[in-house]
Parts: sequence; structure tokens; C-alpha cells
Amino acid sequence: MSSRQLFLCPHCKTKMRLTSSHLEAELFRVSYFQCTNVFCGFTARGEYAITHQVSPSSTPDPSVNLETFRKTG
Ligand SMILES: [Zn+2]
Repeated sequence: MSSRQLFLCPHCKTKMRLTSSHLEAELFRVSYFQCTNVFCGFTARGEYAITHQVSPSSTPDPSVNLETFRKTG
């Protein structure tokens, strides 16, 4: 698994480890996290979703229909 620090534990502010992750849909991933502080023991579920395209694919799948993200400001 990735060693990249994605979240801090909201309770003890220690880094959390990604323990497992799976795709629930093409654009939607569910992940589970575990606090690395043994005295805390907090675990959590998180979700990631691809919500917008920033630039279009050169090999587009016509079934993928995402709004284009436009940076404001
Ligand atoms: Zn913790």
C-alpha cells in the first residue's frame, strides 16, 4: 500500500495508514484508514470520487460524462 500520508487522525493528530481500498464504481473508490498511534486505535472509512474532467481524454469513452472543471478566480 502507499506510504503517502493522506489523513491525520482527527482524535490524536497522528498520521493514519491506508489499510485497504477498492473501486465500488468506475469513478468511486472506498478506502479504510487506521490511526498508527497504538494508544488511540481509531479506524475510519473514506470515499474518493472523480467528479469533473480538467482536460479531455484523447481516447474518450462515450459512456463517461463528466462536467469540465473551470478554475474560478
Ligand atoms: Zn489516533
